[in-house]
Amino acid sequence: MPTPDCLFCKIRDNQIPATITYRDDNVLAFKDIGPKAPLHQLVIPLRHVELLADARPEDAELYGQLMVTAAKIARDAGHAEDGFRVVMNSGANAGQTVFHVHLHVLAGRPFSWPPG
Ligand code: AMP
Ligand code: ZN
Repeated sequence: MPTPDCLFCKIRDNQIPATITYRDDNVLAFKDIGPKAPLHQLVIPLRHVELLADARPEDAELYGQLMVTAAKIARDAGHAEDGFRVVMNSGANAGQTVFHVHLHVLAGRPFSWPPG
């Protein structure tokens, strides 16, 4: 399937450098280039998916894999106890800027609620 001109597809395909931290048959994780916390990584599906808003029941396993990978990243970095946050922005009002689904994994400082 041809991929659109997508930044995260290019990271997946090693056309743009990134610090990859995890990869399996379905998901890829790498460090965010503009970290908003001491730990800030992104977990993406290998398959190009634009928006969480498009999710269908058949996508449930893939979204579950993103969450399970986020938990592993936080745990392996020592943040199971002090806590971490996962964020997935969908669409312009949520602040999504890269239209390849990605889960932010943030840890290493307290986060406020509600988000801005
Ligand atoms: P969002 O605003 O939810 O779409 O998040 C996009 C994220 O991608 C931001 O946190 C950016 O810092 C991050 N980002 C943009 N370009 C790159 C890149 N080349 N490598 C790693 N992260 C990136
Ligand atoms: Zn993509």
